[in-house]
Amino acid sequence: MTDTADRPPLLQMALRVEHDIFVVRQRGREVAAAVGLEHQDQVRIATALSEVARDLLRAVGGADVVFQAVDAPDGRCHLRVDLVPVAPMPADRYEPQSGAVARLVDSLGTVRVGRDTVVRMSRRVPVTARALTPERLADLRTELGRNAPGSALDELAAQNEQLIAALDEVRSQRDELVVLNEELQETNRGVLALYGQLSEELEETNRGVVALYAELDEKSAQLRAASESKSRFLANVSHELRAPVTAIMGLGRLLADDASDPLTDEQARQVELIRSSAADLLTLVNELLDLAKAESGRIEPDWAEVDLRPIFGQLRGTLRALATRPGVELVVEEPPSPATLRTDEVLLGQVLRNLVHNGLKFTERGEVRLRATRSDAHWSLVVSDTGPGIPPELHERIFEEFYQVPGATRVGGTGLGLPYARRLVTLLGGTLELASEPGRGSTFTVTLPVAGA
Ligand code: ADP
Repeated sequence: MTDTADRPPLLQMALRVEHDIFVVRQRGREVAAAVGLEHQDQVRIATALSEVARDLLRAVGGADVVFQAVDAPDGRCHLRVDLVPVAPMPADRYEPQSGAVARLVDSLGTVRVGRDTVVRMSRRVPVTARALTPERLADLRTELGRNAPGSALDELAAQNEQLIAALDEVRSQRDELVVLNEELQETNRGVLALYGQLSEELEETNRGVVALYAELDEKSAQLRAASESKSRFLANVSHELRAPVTAIMGLGRLLADDASDPLTDEQARQVELIRSSAADLLTLVNELLDLAKAESGRIEPDWAEVDLRPIFGQLRGTLRALATRPGVELVVEEPPSPATLRTDEVLLGQVLRNLVHNGLKFTERGEVRLRATRSDAHWSLVVSDTGPGIPPELHERIFEEFYQVPGATRVGGTGLGLPYARRLVTLLGGTLELASEPGRGSTFTVTLPVAGA
């Protein structure tokens, strides 16, 4: 802080007796008000001053009190009060009796001025205060010099007023706190209400979900029952049909036999028609029976360690007879060894025969290929062809019973082969998937676990 000692002090007074403490306090407040400190700050510096004055009076019997307005290094004006003790302070030190005093002002401590150790405190004048020009300071000096110090009673009254104001402030703060508390409670109630509402909605939703699940369970049970009765119906009907159809075929064969009476050409043609229709019917009946059996879970796979190579060899032999189209080649690749897995040899043979048969049936040019690849725990048995291909939107439909892709590929058949094949693969613990696009051929992949289901 720049020492502005050359400036005459704003006010100077002596502290010698108890009564002077009141005067110092009162004058302190006046000076603070005069330089522009706010009301609170006036009370603070006056209180600090009276505390320090009391301490010094007791310790050394008094002091000279000097009020000064000084320019601080921060470019702001401070009100500075020096208390110059009338006798050296014990140990040349000053500690306020109450530690809280130091907090009332911006700075409080001792400084050496000449040979004296002086207690000095200061408080910053707010920027909003009127500028303290030399002329203004001169006016203040005159004004303060004129004001006679009041009595101890006056100061006591003033102090009382200040106390009341402070109490008022505390009360208003408490009122504010009460309002805040109420608002908080209100908010809490709101949050609780919201929480309750959310809980209720959640419960409601839960109840809905539970009801939905119950309905779903019921529907599944109905569906299962319907599916079972369908399988039973199919099995019974097919079984009942098989005998008469076989009989028709036998009778047809008899009629066409050389040992029987000769038939006219027309009759022979019609008997052959009856026979081939009966053969188609028998195929259908047999396939229906197979499917019904697979669906009702009456097929028990005969698990065994199976070698793919003989299965592939057999397919190569038996299916070659079906590959009668001149422009179509059947390629059965040799599986990589060791080509073993745990499965049912007969069922797997049926599946692969069915897929290769389909390939040969629908492919007019190019090839039908069967190959096997193995990953760690699975075999992929892949049947690919260069046939017409199947649009992606029908990839799942062709696995439905009786479904056949409309158009050119509808060349006989029952539409039961693929659903049956998929059933069998599922029974063997695997999957049957299709990749195909019209014009790009079809690839059916059977994936089976090496270790069986
Ligand atoms: P089916 O062959 O007796 O008609 P599937 O269940 O085996 O019955 O096949 C269903 C339908 O899927 C066939 O009618 C055919 O439209 C289509 N399909 C099956 N395999 C192929 C294939 N390799 N290429 C083209 N279409 C096929």
